[in-house]
Amino acid sequence: MKIHEYQAKELFAAYDIPVKKQILCHTADEAVDAYSRLNVPLVVLKAQVLTGGRGKAGGIKLADSPEKVKANAEAILGIKIKDIPVDRILVTEAADIKKEYYMSIVVDRNTKSALLMLSSDGGIDIEEVAHSTPERIYKFQIDPLLGTPDFFTRKVAFSLFTDIKLINQLSHIIKSLYKLMLETDASLAEINPLVLTPDDTLVAVDAKMTFDDNALYRHPQIAALFEPTEEEKKEKEAKSKGFSYVHLGGEIGCMVNGAGLAMATMDLIKRYRGKPANFLDIGGSSNSEKVVHAMKLLLQDSDVKVVLINIFGGITRCDDVANGLLKAFEQIDTDIPVVVRLTGTNEELGRALLKDSKLYVANTMSEATRMAVNLALKTY
Ligand code: GDP
Ligand code: MN
Repeated sequence: MKIHEYQAKELFAAYDIPVKKQILCHTADEAVDAYSRLNVPLVVLKAQVLTGGRGKAGGIKLADSPEKVKANAEAILGIKIKDIPVDRILVTEAADIKKEYYMSIVVDRNTKSALLMLSSDGGIDIEEVAHSTPERIYKFQIDPLLGTPDFFTRKVAFSLFTDIKLINQLSHIIKSLYKLMLETDASLAEINPLVLTPDDTLVAVDAKMTFDDNALYRHPQIAALFEPTEEEKKEKEAKSKGFSYVHLGGEIGCMVNGAGLAMATMDLIKRYRGKPANFLDIGGSSNSEKVVHAMKLLLQDSDVKVVLINIFGGITRCDDVANGLLKAFEQIDTDIPVVVRLTGTNEELGRALLKDSKLYVANTMSEATRMAVNLALKTY
């Protein structure tokens, strides 16, 4: 589970990790009021959305007058970042930046311990640094039995600084962040950038935390911060209709009866170099109502270019399924091509029923999959 920057910074403050004063706002007028309450010349307005890259998307703006606060707050509240509308902004005292560093602690499955990462190349392009100059990100395994004793934190702090004042500050931040992670069962804590100000103090200008879902029951205060994403809302809605649905981000929407067949369908799509948009098991029987609900769910996903319906008629006869599909598609208005593979009891009868519909009918699973992949590429 992810939390917002302002929530993570509240935890930071509770663990004595330096952050600037902040006020959360929902409107531009609230932001103007926050500006006067903070009583500092320069503030930063920051979109609070559960995704990174806000800076590049125009979700972070400086302001040094009430007028600019209002204008910038209005601008940020009007945008979407990676499809998420911004409904909250954080107004925070601006840090004066001499240099930006990167710091994070993640749970590392390979070493079964926490991994501390530090870099002098902090700021908004850490992914680029990790990709092109990975040697510029220093990695240190934290021994789970020793934790973060002074000798360790000082030693690793020397990878960024030589000045003893800064070594001590960073050392303290490492200890505090690790303690916070352990005590909250976090799987990731990231400070990017960790800012060095001209008067040589370190301050966390951004804050990101992710928690282990399986441990949330131990932390009711953190669990209470849960906000479902649009995807999670969809998954929940699907569950209430008796489906099991997982969004995967590709372009071939899948509707399959049975979890095993759904897995096999996704494998085959990958095999033919397509990208499944989702896992969707509509369960045993496939009546028309279910198909309508499932189609609506798939069509909500704007990435879906083709729908692949893969049905195995066992106890349910294929002619019944075909009639169900025809009835369902009378109610569904879409230009998206739909490929159907029907097999099992009465399959010839079922396919014959679909012959004059606008559905693309295939006999085998690989034929259906190739059709779907080609339709997605518009080469069919
Ligand atoms: P992200 O883009 O979602 O990671 O948001 P960040 O909070 O990391 O901000 C992105 C960038 O905005 C930072 O790397 C800084 O360059 C700039 N920025 C953010 N806060 C401040 C601030 O307090 N003062 C100054 N001068 N720049 C800031
Ligand atoms: Mn950041």
